[in-house]
Amino acid sequence: MTTTLTLDNGVEMPALGFGVFQTPPEETVASVAEALKVGYRLIDTAAAYGNEREVGEGIKQSGIDRSEIFIETKLWISDYGHDEALHGFEKSAGKLGVEQIDLLLLHQPLTSDFDRTIGAYRALEELLAAGKVRAIGVSNVMPDVLERLLAETAIVPAVNQVEVHPYFSQPDVQKADAEHGILTQAWSPMGGITSYRGDSSRTTFNDPVIDEIAQAHGRTPAQVMVRWHLQEGRSAIPKSVKPERIAANFDVLGFELTADELSRIDALDTGVRSGPDPDAITLESFHRDIPEA
Ligand code: NDP
Repeated sequence: MTTTLTLDNGVEMPALGFGVFQTPPEETVASVAEALKVGYRLIDTAAAYGNEREVGEGIKQSGIDRSEIFIETKLWISDYGHDEALHGFEKSAGKLGVEQIDLLLLHQPLTSDFDRTIGAYRALEELLAAGKVRAIGVSNVMPDVLERLLAETAIVPAVNQVEVHPYFSQPDVQKADAEHGILTQAWSPMGGITSYRGDSSRTTFNDPVIDEIAQAHGRTPAQVMVRWHLQEGRSAIPKSVKPERIAANFDVLGFELTADELSRIDALDTGVRSGPDPDAITLESFHRDIPEA
């Protein structure tokens, strides 16, 4: 297991990062500063989360040198199309208060308007060539859509950020990513979405198998899930606004899961996603104005 992953273009990225989806802007500065204080060096945000400015502020307040922090953000579908995406970069960089973004993703493929997706991806390629971003990637891209994207673009995405947790681990997506040298990054890595958007009587946090493994190591289910990703070679970006959880979710280097334990967690996959079907994301239903910087 390594704590740093090397992307296909040679850029180094921390394997374990900090997510801020649903973190209200007024809590984001403190959360990000806390995460950086306990050791996270990768922050994952998105234009659509409405908290890029506060992520930038948290980074500034941390006092940690910008060069030591890996900033990842995502363009929203309302800013797709070539020129719109170039402007989307300016908006995100402006709010974050940085000249260069480490990793810029397309948040969702717009399968109903794929030309716009391709236009936006070509803008990412230009931003990469111009040194405005260090790496580019995608999110929520399924293998069929990946093939369509690869057929029309020049640079293979460095990262595909997708829903991966014990109840929905998408082995087919992970396999397709790996075949193209794409790093799979797990969103909702602890299955948070199974609790905030599912049937709260059965969540990854109270799963008996994960709990048994956690007890065997004197750890929490959350720590076991984060560790599971890292040992299987994925990047993971757990989110919390609570200082004790922010610290605990990062404290995963002092124990090791056995091959049997990894397999038992793999076997929990239900094949049922908790997040939205990527094909259902359309401009009609998910348009959102992303404000200027
Ligand atoms: P996580 O698996 O990170 O779970 C977060 C949820 O679990 C929150 O409700 C949090 O609440 C709670 N939690 C955090 N730590 C613990 C703990 N130790 N024990 C019990 N509960 C805990 O899921 P997310 O969906 O938040 O995903 C993480 C990140 O992935 C996001 O922040 C975002 O950056 C990214 N993401 C990307 C998506 C995409 O489409 N590309 C979609 C969804 C997420 P609390 O804050 O109160 O601790």
